[in-house]
Amino acid sequence: MKIYDLIGIGIGPYNLGLAALTTERSELETIFFDQNGQFAWHPGMLIEGTDLQVSFLADLVTFANPASKYTFLNYLHHHDRLYPFFLFHKFEMPRTEYAAYLKWVADELPNCHFQSTVQDVIDHGDHYEVVVNHWKEQEVTSYLTKHVVLGTGSTPLIPIDTENVDSEDVYHSSQYLYHKDHTIQHKHITVVGSGQSAAEIFYDLLKLQDRYDFELAWYTRSPGFLELDSSKLGQETFTPDYVNYFQQLSFPERLDSLDHLGHLRNGIDGSTLHHIFDLLYHRSVGGKSLPVTIQPLTEIQKVTKLGKQLTVEAEQWQQGKDFQFQTDQLILATGYKPNIPDWFYSRFGQKIEWEDDKRYKVDQNFKLVFKDKQHDHHFYTLTNLEHSHGTGATNLGLAVDRNIRIINETTGKTVYEQKLGTIFTSFGL
Ligand SMILES: Cc1cc2nc3c(=O)[nH]c(=O)nc-3n(C[C@H](O)[C@H](O)[C@H](O)COP(=O)(O)OP(=O)(O)OC[C@H]3O[C@@H](n4cnc5c(N)ncnc54)[C@H](O)[C@@H]3O)c2cc1C
Repeated sequence: MKIYDLIGIGIGPYNLGLAALTTERSELETIFFDQNGQFAWHPGMLIEGTDLQVSFLADLVTFANPASKYTFLNYLHHHDRLYPFFLFHKFEMPRTEYAAYLKWVADELPNCHFQSTVQDVIDHGDHYEVVVNHWKEQEVTSYLTKHVVLGTGSTPLIPIDTENVDSEDVYHSSQYLYHKDHTIQHKHITVVGSGQSAAEIFYDLLKLQDRYDFELAWYTRSPGFLELDSSKLGQETFTPDYVNYFQQLSFPERLDSLDHLGHLRNGIDGSTLHHIFDLLYHRSVGGKSLPVTIQPLTEIQKVTKLGKQLTVEAEQWQQGKDFQFQTDQLILATGYKPNIPDWFYSRFGQKIEWEDDKRYKVDQNFKLVFKDKQHDHHFYTLTNLEHSHGTGATNLGLAVDRNIRIINETTGKTVYEQKLGTIFTSFGL
């Protein structure tokens, strides 16, 4: 039976970039599987008017090989969009266009397979067996490989019990566009959270408030609706140099650093906050009271449905005051957590080293660290990396560097050159 060099589990931007870079310039035999029917990048959050939060240069391949045929610029060229993008005059492309670019690359690549759920990975000592459920054909097939790369992304984090409420009434931000038409037919809508998704949904609804007649509320547990730090020198923590520095710190030092650099990771893009404030200001001219509530310092604790409306129990935690309010729709923009398949824990939980009960040990090249030091078929992970590789763990701009390291290590040569020492900041001695 054929043995692949590398099998990728999940095809989001991270593994898709790896698929592109290995296809174009390496002798590695690779194959990638995704459980979705076709390529899709956060389809429930492709809100019109929103842009990617990184430059178009942080596409799937440019940092490794600007001459690749899978660059965003080549996508534009193929789709007769170069002149419009040139005149668009922005480094950040529309979110919908990023999704379309990724889909174009996925469709071009022969090694990306959808409708294929990886339901098990078995370690056979000198290779892995990857068990794939090709659900459309109702066939389960095993594939053998030397190395695997876990790229299963993240899954919604829902901090309150939603079991007894209808998913039409209470849903996670990742589902927003699927519910939006239904949501705006209601009289009272509440958004929870203070990240970019919460702000984008709040603004999208705010714009519709004068056409549809609803009240809009926005709550967050955070102390404020704060701006993400996008200062240029600060952004140098989203570079391979900082990843290298961070990775060699001790586990407690790394956790400390994550706290210190929270303003670079958590918060809302300045322009989204400006748009929201300006719209509120314009609408309130003449002292008009607005059907809007905006309140930080407030934790949503429970939601129940009594009669037609939802009753939400909340606490203003700084004052220690509990209160209740009624709403029709509750949108939880409460973030994501790493998506680690169940089989991972049963198959590998005991074999690998952990830094604490949730965070596995990951080495410099994104490999899990096996207790058996002779273990030479690697298990790479592109998910759950914050504690090991820092602030940029889920940043698209660093995905290419990760893939460069994986390709160079598995081939044993420099297929793509890693660019270090090209920034202005130095982090350690
Ligand atoms: C709404 C949103 C906007 C974002 N915008 C930005 C941004 O502007 N800039 C930025 O730097 N970062 C952004 N991020 C963060 C990050 O870049 C994205 O989350 C990115 O999609 C992560 O890519 P990924 O490849 O890890 O995972 P994902 O895109 O989550 O893809 C994982 C894939 O794995 C598949 N999968 C899971 N389990 C299995 C299995 N067992 N078998 C087969 N397939 C499986 C899933 O179907 C999925 O397609 C954003 C995140 C979100 C949620």
